[in-house]
Amino acid sequence: MTIVTPELLTRYDISGPRYTSYPTADRFVDAFGEQDYVLALQQRRQSPVGKAMPLSIYVHIPFCESLCYYCACNKIITKHHDRADVYLRYLSREIDLHTAHCGVGQTVSQVHLGGGTPTFLSDEGLRDLMGMLRSQFTLVPGGEYSIEVDPRTVDADRLAVLAELGFNRLSFGVQDFDPEVQKAVHRIQPAEQVFALVEAARRIGFESINVDLIYGLPKQTPESFDRTLAQVAQLRPDRIALYGYAHLPERFKPQRRIVVVDLPGAANKVAMLARALAAFDAAGYDYIGMDHFALPDDALAVAKRQGRLHRNFQGYSTQPDCDLIGLGVSAIGKIGATYSQNAKSLEDYQDLLDQGHLPVVRGLAVSRDDLLRRAVIMALMCQGEVLYESIELSHLINFREYFASELQALRGMQEQGLVRLTDTGIEVTSMGWFFVRGVAMVFDKYLQADRTRARFSKII
Ligand code: SF4
Repeated sequence: MTIVTPELLTRYDISGPRYTSYPTADRFVDAFGEQDYVLALQQRRQSPVGKAMPLSIYVHIPFCESLCYYCACNKIITKHHDRADVYLRYLSREIDLHTAHCGVGQTVSQVHLGGGTPTFLSDEGLRDLMGMLRSQFTLVPGGEYSIEVDPRTVDADRLAVLAELGFNRLSFGVQDFDPEVQKAVHRIQPAEQVFALVEAARRIGFESINVDLIYGLPKQTPESFDRTLAQVAQLRPDRIALYGYAHLPERFKPQRRIVVVDLPGAANKVAMLARALAAFDAAGYDYIGMDHFALPDDALAVAKRQGRLHRNFQGYSTQPDCDLIGLGVSAIGKIGATYSQNAKSLEDYQDLLDQGHLPVVRGLAVSRDDLLRRAVIMALMCQGEVLYESIELSHLINFREYFASELQALRGMQEQGLVRLTDTGIEVTSMGWFFVRGVAMVFDKYLQADRTRARFSKII
């Protein structure tokens, strides 16, 4: 792996979108509503290409039993598990409204349950939810069926139920194994518990196990984080996602409970990131891009080597770019050339469904320029390469003319060794992979037009 020095990390210590979509969700508009979404669903149903393309489904389960102080997710803290039963009834209604427009039995190759805490649902609740999906859609064998798991909410028996329901991928929220850090963020989960669960998951036969980590949390030091990294190397998950904590208490209320003096300074954050990159490299992980690492034989690493990597709202994926139905409060969908988002508050979400409406409240009809830029950004983020000819043929433009100012901006990055501009296209260097978000940002028209907005997380 290329050695990424703290100096380079400091130089590119800027904020940027994660580009799980382009345009990014903060560009969605209220003018896009249910009618537009229904039209997109109907057009999909009528188009032979749309119908032939498998769907992806995301279900948002917003409930959590206790609050993690670093949390920036859309969630509801409650110990009342009966709230989940009510929520499932609304999800059922939402699914029915969808199939009324897009047809029953559509092929689905990817399901992801996120939150919140999907494992807040009881085994029965999860069974009901998967039953609803299977009764209305056709979940193909060999698809990616994944669920985010809070280790505090499951045991080996529950993991066995998840496997029985068809899930083949688990993502454990670990963040940090250090007890002091766990106390400071109000998320206590002993390392032994996670080790036991991962071992059980392997025994059960899950295809891929991911672990989420966060650096930059209160009470973390480069030395304490080294210990967590050593434990993660021992745990040996198939995939690791490493996120930088962004302290934005004015935007995310739970973060106001974090004691500011406990937060590591910028130099220590950079040191933690540099040490993590070195530790994962030493442990044999491949860098996938954008916060993600995988063992060389994991499907994601194989897909990256073969140039088959894709990117969607769940991050990197081996599944080809497909339409996405987002179910549940605040869920985002992508159908044809549109993005849509459901109501963010549970009350609004339920009210709309009570009135017989799909709960879509904002979104975007993507323009031709958006589609073109999305193709360039995704090629950079997934293949690390843009071939001018391929973009020119599929979008009927002259690349060098259309993107003259962007190519000019990339020349600076070329001097810093992040990209290579060749006669035929743009190549991201092995060093550039670590800053690929910064390279992609050059092609983000909205960001370039609005440079004052710095509301994204750091680019690596
Ligand atoms: S971090 Fe996850 S588990 Fe913790 S409160 Fe937020 S959504 Fe819930």
